[in-house]
Amino acid sequence: MTAIQRENAVCAQNYAPLPIMLERGEGVWLTDAAGVKRLDMMSGYSAVSLGHGHPRILRAMAEQASRLAVTSRAFHCAPLGPFLEKLCAVSGMEMALPMNTGAEAVETAIKAARRWGHRVKGIADGRARIIVADGNFHGRTTTIIGFSSEESYRDGFGPFAPGFDNVPFGDAAAVAAAITPETAAILIEPIQGEAGIVLPPPGYLAELRRLCDSHDILLILDEVQSGLGRTGRWFAHQHEGIRPDGLIVGKALGGGVYPVSAFLASRAVMQVFEPGSHGSTFGGNALAAAIGLEALRVIEEERLVERSAEQGVYLKARLEAMTAGLARSVRGLGLWVGVDIDPALASAKALVASLADAGVLTKETHETVIRFAPPLTIDRAELDWGLARCEAVFAAVAAKARQRAA
Ligand code: PMP
Repeated sequence: MTAIQRENAVCAQNYAPLPIMLERGEGVWLTDAAGVKRLDMMSGYSAVSLGHGHPRILRAMAEQASRLAVTSRAFHCAPLGPFLEKLCAVSGMEMALPMNTGAEAVETAIKAARRWGHRVKGIADGRARIIVADGNFHGRTTTIIGFSSEESYRDGFGPFAPGFDNVPFGDAAAVAAAITPETAAILIEPIQGEAGIVLPPPGYLAELRRLCDSHDILLILDEVQSGLGRTGRWFAHQHEGIRPDGLIVGKALGGGVYPVSAFLASRAVMQVFEPGSHGSTFGGNALAAAIGLEALRVIEEERLVERSAEQGVYLKARLEAMTAGLARSVRGLGLWVGVDIDPALASAKALVASLADAGVLTKETHETVIRFAPPLTIDRAELDWGLARCEAVFAAVAAKARQRAA
């Protein structure tokens, strides 16, 4: 029995991984059991923005783990204050509620929005509604998938929680039309990641900000994937110069080694939580806080946000040039680029397998989009190494498509 067969015999088949058994990660490189080294261009769905085994993260983790790790928030622990202080400073928010995974932080945001709606805005209890976008991805809990527009995420998992109004993504007029006196919040990804790195039209977020201000509605942004430098700014919403009322962060906050997430908000919103109203055994534990704080320091001190912006322009231009004959569009910001392959010409899934054979690990999303999201620590030589391999794969596939057409 191979190691993969062994895993498949007992592990739920809720993923369909490439048949590659990874054993080691160092920086932007992943090595499999046979010793083959490949470039990581998907970074654990952006959780590994700092690269694999960042020495500063490993040091902070080992130091904190050997001193104090999990106590639950029944007690205070020293690293939590400095961690959340830093998180508030980089995001411009006033208070934070620490969680572990992205979905939990989204659930926290939903609870905050509803309580704020009922207790501050004055919506009758149990009536608060939240506007969300089609194509959203906010996680996999039953409440969250209930407002997903993706049938495969929902099929057979109902009944679903009420209270959400779906509108098309990128259409501010549709949001305006969906607002009622019972609307407590708009919950949205500033750029839709899992939908295929979909950017809204310029001015969309600014218009949502204006609508929220004029109708007394909270603007809550899910930056679990787009945040912490991925798009070339600390947070994607900063490209439009707006400030949200609530902000959800996760993934890269854990330095690539541990689940760390948070819901951030103003003091006025966060005061809806009193002791007993919400919690998590692991959320805000000393180990998570020490890792989160070090992750933020590394992003700042290694200028990863600036590097993402600079390298991202290069990555997108190179991918545009090399997929001109195959892609319907190439879109993205910073080190986060989606190449939308024309399904009449090639299969994104087959391309991902060929790229892996050539030494570049990526992942398709929504059938046709290949995402390129390397660790933000990637240097130009490493990027060029990967892009040369991508170029060869795309050229071979484009030549085959031309042959078929001739
Ligand atoms: N929000 C967004 C925008 C995401 O991309 C994801 C994960 N892909 C989540 C939430 C859920 O995060 P987690 O898997 O850590 O629950």
